[in-house]
Amino acid sequence: DHQVHIIGGGMAGSEAAWQLARRGIRVKLSEMRGSGERTPAHQGDGLAELVCSNSFRSDDDEKNAVGLLHHEMRQCGSLLMAAAEKARVPAGSALAVDRDVFSAEVEAALAAQPTLTIVRERIDILPETGLTIIATGPLTAPALAGSIGAMTGADSLAFFDAIAPIVYRESIDMDVAWMASRWDKGAEASLAMGGDGRDYINCPMNRAQYLAFREELLAGDKTEFKEWEASTPYFDGCMPIEVMAARGEETLRFGPMKPVGLDNPHWATAEHPNGRWPYAVVQLRQDNKLGTLWNMVGFQTKLKHAEQVRVFRTIPGLEQAEFARLGGLHRNTFLNSPTLLDRQLRLKSAPHIRFAGQITGCEGYVESGAVGLLAGLMAAAELTGQDWPAPPRTTALGALLAHITGDAEAESYQPMNVNFGLFPPVDASIKKKVRKEAYTGRAKQDLAQWVPALP
Ligand code: FAD
Repeated sequence: DHQVHIIGGGMAGSEAAWQLARRGIRVKLSEMRGSGERTPAHQGDGLAELVCSNSFRSDDDEKNAVGLLHHEMRQCGSLLMAAAEKARVPAGSALAVDRDVFSAEVEAALAAQPTLTIVRERIDILPETGLTIIATGPLTAPALAGSIGAMTGADSLAFFDAIAPIVYRESIDMDVAWMASRWDKGAEASLAMGGDGRDYINCPMNRAQYLAFREELLAGDKTEFKEWEASTPYFDGCMPIEVMAARGEETLRFGPMKPVGLDNPHWATAEHPNGRWPYAVVQLRQDNKLGTLWNMVGFQTKLKHAEQVRVFRTIPGLEQAEFARLGGLHRNTFLNSPTLLDRQLRLKSAPHIRFAGQITGCEGYVESGAVGLLAGLMAAAELTGQDWPAPPRTTALGALLAHITGDAEAESYQPMNVNFGLFPPVDASIKKKVRKEAYTGRAKQDLAQWVPALP
């Protein structure tokens, strides 16, 4: 006789359950661990288990987007944030926790809710009726993933997370890089979408730079494939850049680093007034509607994070690059949310089903919890017949939600951490030094106005 069925008791499902139960709504939470099932990454049966690091990252809510998200979740009465406070261990300005204490705190708080029933069971099929929140995470059990795939179209459900790094536009040196599309092609399509026909940012390399760069890719320190990942094949379209580099000296130059049709105007001469083609080119493609984030095309990689920063900053134009996210490759189940979900995280084709957590294409413990929090609030508002006041676009919650539910480019949609590139830009005249404070200050003000309207 529950009013909402939540499937998955990880970060998102636990927070969603809390937000509903504390409002007196009857909730059933189905979690497969504890019934003899495990994901390939979870070690125990506790709710909200942290599968890898024990950090919720920066707790600085003035200069850091994830710290701001902490603040906003706290303002919304987040269980995960309260449990983290109790489980906190020293970690400088980061919020790190004892993972066992954290999970136990979450579980105890949920178990004490009279309107919440926790059932240890695996769910294999999407429920046909009843308000449902799917929060089964990046390692959703295969049968349910199949059921989701059948309903959304298998193509929309990635089983694979091949991530190329994403760079902040303002950190790219445009005195070296330039905007252009190959052969000026796509100019028409670009113009139709409000572009100016020069859609890519191009970073040029001469021959010596290219050869040196390839050597760096080959020599760079890589993360190992986990055993349970080893059986996952590379799809052609998401082969790591270093694997491609290893295939031959020219492979990259005929692949993602192809220079043909790209006149570099910075290299213009009297003889070549439009400039000339570099020996190789690294292209970046716009990644969000605001144009603040650009992904490195074809640069999915298993290089370690610190190596990526070091090696990719040798690319001309990216010497000062700041990365909104770094590349990676691991198994992952996530929806193409911008096309499949409405602004309330509901499946457009079956609106009784909401998604929350990493399966929506956010990335990280905190982000997953935040989207769980939003899904819980949305379901609560829906049940009580209230209008859902979406969090302001200028807040971390609002920026993340907008990204997931429509602002991201659907074609290149990849899991994303919260970052200032997702926010509407603050006034360009604000000095770089205090720009982060401008984002967080504006967010806090707008959030404070919104919180009283929560269901
Ligand atoms: P989860 O926390 O995974 O929760 C999903 C729950 O659903 C699980 O408890 C699972 O048992 C259950 N479930 C799955 N299928 C079913 C089913 N059919 N029926 C019932 N229950 C089901 N993020 C970070 O911030 N830091 C990290 O260090 C980090 N490391 C990661 C390492 C790995 C290997 C992976 C895969 C991800 C990592 N992430 C990390 C990313 C992500 O933030 C976490 O995976 C996060 O836990 C996602 O939250 P979630 O609630 O969406 O999913």
